[in-house]
Amino acid sequence: MPETTSQQKFVYDFTEGNKDLKDLLGGKGANLAEMTNLGLPVPPGFTITTEACKVYLDSGSEPTALRDEVSAHLEALEKRMGKKLGQADDPLLVSVRSGAKFSMPGMMDTVLNIGLSDASVAGLAAQAGDERFAWDSYRRLIQMFGKTVLGVDGELFEEALDEAKRAKGVTTDVDLDAADLKRLVEDFKATVAKETGRDFPQEPREQMDLAIRAVFDSWNGDRAKLYRRQERIPGDLGTAVNICSMVFGNLGPDSGTGVAFTRDPASGHQGVYGDYLQNAQGEDVVAGIRNTVPLADLERIDKASYAQLMQIMETLETHYKDLCDIEFTIERGKLWMLQTRVGKRTAGAAFRIATQLVDQGLIDEAEALQRVTGAQLAQLMFPRFDEKAKTDLLGRGIAASPGAAVGKAVFDSYTAVKWSRSGEKVILIRRETNPDDLDGMIASEGILTSRGGKTSHAAVVARGMGKTCVCGAEELEVDTKRRRMTAPGGIVIEEGEVVSIDGSTGKVYRGEVPVVPSPVVEYFEGRADGAAEDADELVKAVHRVMTYADGGRRLQVRANADNAEDAARARRFGAQGIGLCRTEHMFLGERREMVERLILADHEDERDEALKALLPLQKSDFVELFEAMDGLPVTVRLLDPPLHEFLPDITDLSVRVALAEARHEPHENELRLLQAVHKLHEQNPMLGLRGVRLGLVIPGLFAMQVRAIAEAAAERRNAGGDPHAEIMIPLVGTVQELEIVREEAERVIAEVEQATGTDLGLTLGTMIELPRAALTAGQIAEAAEFFSFGTNDLTQTVWGFSRDDVEASFFTAYLEKGIFGVSPFETIDRDGVGSLVRAAAEAGRATRPDLKLGVCGEHGGDPDSVHFFHEVGLDYVSCSPFRIPVARLEAGRAAALGKGGSDSR
Ligand code: ADP
Ligand code: MG
Ligand code: MG
Repeated sequence: MPETTSQQKFVYDFTEGNKDLKDLLGGKGANLAEMTNLGLPVPPGFTITTEACKVYLDSGSEPTALRDEVSAHLEALEKRMGKKLGQADDPLLVSVRSGAKFSMPGMMDTVLNIGLSDASVAGLAAQAGDERFAWDSYRRLIQMFGKTVLGVDGELFEEALDEAKRAKGVTTDVDLDAADLKRLVEDFKATVAKETGRDFPQEPREQMDLAIRAVFDSWNGDRAKLYRRQERIPGDLGTAVNICSMVFGNLGPDSGTGVAFTRDPASGHQGVYGDYLQNAQGEDVVAGIRNTVPLADLERIDKASYAQLMQIMETLETHYKDLCDIEFTIERGKLWMLQTRVGKRTAGAAFRIATQLVDQGLIDEAEALQRVTGAQLAQLMFPRFDEKAKTDLLGRGIAASPGAAVGKAVFDSYTAVKWSRSGEKVILIRRETNPDDLDGMIASEGILTSRGGKTSHAAVVARGMGKTCVCGAEELEVDTKRRRMTAPGGIVIEEGEVVSIDGSTGKVYRGEVPVVPSPVVEYFEGRADGAAEDADELVKAVHRVMTYADGGRRLQVRANADNAEDAARARRFGAQGIGLCRTEHMFLGERREMVERLILADHEDERDEALKALLPLQKSDFVELFEAMDGLPVTVRLLDPPLHEFLPDITDLSVRVALAEARHEPHENELRLLQAVHKLHEQNPMLGLRGVRLGLVIPGLFAMQVRAIAEAAAERRNAGGDPHAEIMIPLVGTVQELEIVREEAERVIAEVEQATGTDLGLTLGTMIELPRAALTAGQIAEAAEFFSFGTNDLTQTVWGFSRDDVEASFFTAYLEKGIFGVSPFETIDRDGVGSLVRAAAEAGRATRPDLKLGVCGEHGGDPDSVHFFHEVGLDYVSCSPFRIPVARLEAGRAAALGKGGSDSR
């Protein structure tokens, strides 16, 4: 709980902060301070810290010192500006802006023009020499304040505004004159009084204090909470509040407001990217109320401001050494910077920008690795639309967030969520989205809007979520009430009809368009040369970043693969061996019958015969595998799952037996099988007869597998190959189990070596996947040359739940209640399972310093977990072939973090 001490400072002037104080000042406040200190034109102001917010959230009231501190900073601001907040003849106006460490939808919308009142509106008009402007500012204040601070339904104001336009026969707000706006102010005030039971507050300081408190309260709004859960942002950070003196973009055509990126957030290309709107204030530019112009047009509208803006953008890029996004306002030809931050970008742009910045000499390779993530790489490996497919083009919008999405058209969030819950893939189609659509966006494959640009809500949020999005497809007329969309030529798409949207080109198609692999996958497959001059720009960037990662990483990356085909692909994707070859798949299909015979065997002869029949088949599996992984280690796990998994289903079998009985057909075998199935049936198979336990009670089973491995290795060696097999014993809980299996295995290996005249160099090790194994790892290492952490089973046994049972039943509830930030099966639970891994690694190495350590659970391909395995000093991670590039990248990032690369996000 945050302590309030007398020394604690709750308010910082913009001149006092800097960009590294995001925890305290929030992202917006820290960057406003940074820009101020860079000498950029930022309207003066101050920031109330997240600490103040935390006190408020914990205790229900603002810290006592806050009021005085705010007064002191306000006075200083007033002095500097030469006018007092809300002063009747010349009012100082401010904006009250939320700003947490991470930008977050659902936080309180900014309220502009605070300080205006019935008393000061005339003063503002006189000072600006523009009565219309003053009334426009006042109506905006009441509208924003009414909605966000007082909780009045925003529609009521929108409707009144629309009505005023209709009455006058005009279409945009700029066509309303001072008298119209004055009437609207009266309307709005009446609405506030009616809806809230109190008059719109006329006291400037009260307006400000209420807005500050509303910002604090918005931290715990539903939308903010949902977003934090989604993004794994801790719930106790709190938000800062920025008080910023107003500058006015609504002072006429020589004024305006805009947003910009220092380079294209979709491709990374340098250029002029942004939107500008004349005679407008605040969010007008992204709200789609009037048509914006491309930023490049500003050069024509106001050459001097444009030039200054370009200059500032360069300053910011060089200073932040990254793509920045910017909000600015021009007040009668004077440019003001209102916000900047390191901008969001698409996955493809992240890779391109990282390499561009290296080329510009702004960052080094270690830093470049911190500018991309494994999750982004994974995104680039998604398939895209087949260019050769026959398509039915409906229209075209702005390519806002890449990917190829196909689904049924839905026109509201509720339907999107409902349909997706029942397993449908949906595309959410809206005129434009707002924060209320968040649930629907999450539930959809992709998002399509008919209005708004690259910086619209839909675009920004979709990019953040890694969702495909096409926005601003203006030729598509979206009618959410009638749940349909009309394309040029009168083609109507009703709710439920399949559409395909391409977030990389902005194209919208009717029906399902087939997809093809991404160029990045083609590159990993070795079908595209990333180093070639004429290679695809994205492929080139990925190739370079992967080269940085491979050059610096300590962790090796292996694959989980159990056939030659997967092994070969894994190798193309950069695997340095196989970390887990499961052998259970080798007992299925037509071989199942032999396993049945093994299980049913009454005496030794029968069993030996069954094993003998299996041996050559097993051996040939391994020969192929060792060939595909020639020269690299292949860890083969001896049979792990409960035997009954290889037997027929108990119900099916019972039916067969009953039928045969009824028909008086011979069913001797079925009956025996049924008895065996009954005998082997387990209540908790996961905790039953499996792994090393099987090897110890079914004589000859493990020996046969070891022999197959040894003979295969010998065959490869004699054929001139270079096999490196490692034999892995699963589910060991105590060193005695391992010792017994080891003795038998060593005997078999010696026999094979002697018979074939080879030295196989086979190693024997174990999985660490039971808490007892982890706790006695020091002893187990006596009998093991390597450990491979089976983090799936270890997670199950440490938590005492089985994945299949719990994921569907209570995991969502646990995630919603925040008990898990993320499923422990997805990302390793560092505190619990992780601390066992760490301790076992240490104890194992204490016994045997050259003990090889790896992990073969699915965590091996999970970005966060890879960082953990790097930290605890494992030698390798192993994951499914498709995740290998992600693991390589993350292993490189983890290593670079230690070498001066900073975690910039
Ligand atoms: P958000 O977090 O949604 O970006 P902001 O606090 O940046 O909200 O403000 C919303 C809009 O109001 C932005 O367009 C911003 O540039 C504008 N704005 C904020 N403060 C001021 C100010 N003091 N003067 C003029 N415009 C402002
Ligand atoms: Mg902003
Ligand atoms: Mg296991």
